[in-house]
Amino acid sequence: MILHGLNESQKKAVMTTEGPVMIIAGPGTGKTLTITRRIAYLIHKGVCPENILAVTFTNRAAREMRERIGAFLRNDAGKIFIGTFHFLGLRIIQDIYSHSFVIYNRDEQASLLKKLLKNSDFRVRQLVEKISRIKNLIEEADKGVKEIYEKYQSELIKNSAFDFDDLILKPIELLDKAEVLERYRKRFRYIMADEYQDINPAQYKLVKLLTKPTCSPCGNLCVIGDSDQAIYAFRGADIANFLNFEKDFENAQRITLQKNYRSSGIILEASSHLIKRNLKRIGKEIIPIKEKGIPIAVISVPDEKAEGDVIVKEIEKRMGGTSHYQLMQTTTDRDSADGSYSFSDFAVVFRTNAQAKVLEESFVASGIPYQIIGRMRRWKRNEIVQMLKNRVKGFNRGSPFDEFLDEILKDPEFVTNLGESDLILLENLASTYRDPSPGGGLSGLVNALSLLTDADSFDPRAQAVTLTTLHMAKGLEFRVVFIAGVEEGLIPYTIKTSECDLEEERRLFYVGMTRAKDELFLTYSRSRFLYGQKLARSPSSFLREIPEKFVTEIFIPARIAKQGDSQIGLF
Ligand code: ATP
Ligand code: MG
Repeated sequence: MILHGLNESQKKAVMTTEGPVMIIAGPGTGKTLTITRRIAYLIHKGVCPENILAVTFTNRAAREMRERIGAFLRNDAGKIFIGTFHFLGLRIIQDIYSHSFVIYNRDEQASLLKKLLKNSDFRVRQLVEKISRIKNLIEEADKGVKEIYEKYQSELIKNSAFDFDDLILKPIELLDKAEVLERYRKRFRYIMADEYQDINPAQYKLVKLLTKPTCSPCGNLCVIGDSDQAIYAFRGADIANFLNFEKDFENAQRITLQKNYRSSGIILEASSHLIKRNLKRIGKEIIPIKEKGIPIAVISVPDEKAEGDVIVKEIEKRMGGTSHYQLMQTTTDRDSADGSYSFSDFAVVFRTNAQAKVLEESFVASGIPYQIIGRMRRWKRNEIVQMLKNRVKGFNRGSPFDEFLDEILKDPEFVTNLGESDLILLENLASTYRDPSPGGGLSGLVNALSLLTDADSFDPRAQAVTLTTLHMAKGLEFRVVFIAGVEEGLIPYTIKTSECDLEEERRLFYVGMTRAKDELFLTYSRSRFLYGQKLARSPSSFLREIPEKFVTEIFIPARIAKQGDSQIGLF
């Protein structure tokens, strides 16, 4: 059952369990699916679930993986360590660090820096990023920031605080003790890391440390990724990850997966054509399993309002008109006018968070349910963490954990502030912390909650269209994908930045295109309100890199002024 339906290369990837393995393959070739099966296979072979560590890119991906493995294993899935690097780091600290501590998120880092900077002319947000980069790359602070960096570090120590990046660095430091390291190496005998192309040097150091290179069956490390989808170079991740892996683990086996099960032939060919323009890449072949399908629609719209409206119209067309929405939401889960589409089949993807607002307006006006993955929800998460922190303080220490959780989940103030997906997430996280061992329990839960990131707010089961940035769309797939704002300046992103890594921008666009299963729409606007002014726009240069034969071009003219319109007198 575990190998059922897999192709030969996927089976090989599942069954090559010993020693260092690198699975490198294009989008939609079943990398994530293969890891899930590999974990199930290991357990089926007799490996204890406690001996498996799977590192995912988001808590959301971890949850999905756990659920999928649950289908094969039922009871054992909960004992496997599946989580993000930050979560792993947090657990290691909680296990072996004897002091209590707090975690500072980006906002808390910023306010600490603001306090320290006083009259200096540093820009706080930039400094937060700079410090993060130093930590991710395990670099020395350069002269310009050294003084403030050191002040910042000693202030963290004074407050018993770690920032997010310390959650990787501190465990590296703690694992310096041979007997502690040995304990972890014995525990995590099988390690897997998905989205490997985006891990940074600090994270790499941590997994490498946990992997015992010479002694089988300890430390069998399997990394899985696609160098064409590396989109976090600005945070220190690099294509060099793959090259370094083969250097550091000389006996590493390389497995490639070639068949793409996700996208139509046209979407796959067009995106492959585009990505081949990159010079820094490991070339690979991807074979479509699906039929050619229909051409990519490139739509020119007069302004950003029209862009949102055109997207909404296309969704309505496939869903069968607005009048059905109310009925559908209340009657059945997966249903649509012609029975084939659900709102969750659609995604609108864009380069910058700033684009979300106007797109959202079109959705609000139409009544189509939507969810936004991204920064917009950060305030809410912080609020939830604050609320929980207060509750933990007020809760009777001797009371059992489940009682606390029950109380929270029934509390109207909490429930009305949390969406269904947040509740599921909370319950899921809580199950990891039910155990009152050191680092577990309520304070453990609160710390873990502060690790939730923008990407975690996505609920794949919600009957809603997904609005997301290109970065947050990683790993996801949808039947119909709209990439909005495919304009020079936005894609590739050159406005408001002096550094543009064209190859990274191309990879980001490639990630967006390859999220689509059946249909891909690329929209660009001829004018747009950006950073306070209305600007004339031109189509993205990346559009010219897609061969014409894969594209249908559609031109939407400017709205014709209606009678009674205040502007009519001008003409
Ligand atoms: P990405 O690079 O975007 O993360 P991926 O390589 O991780 O993609 P998956 O998300 O694992 O790809 O799989 C893509 C789609 O292909 C999923 O819908 C998955 O169920 C399907 N798929 C993968 N392998 C097979 C297979 N052998 N048979 C049928 N469907 C498959
Ligand atoms: Mg994947």
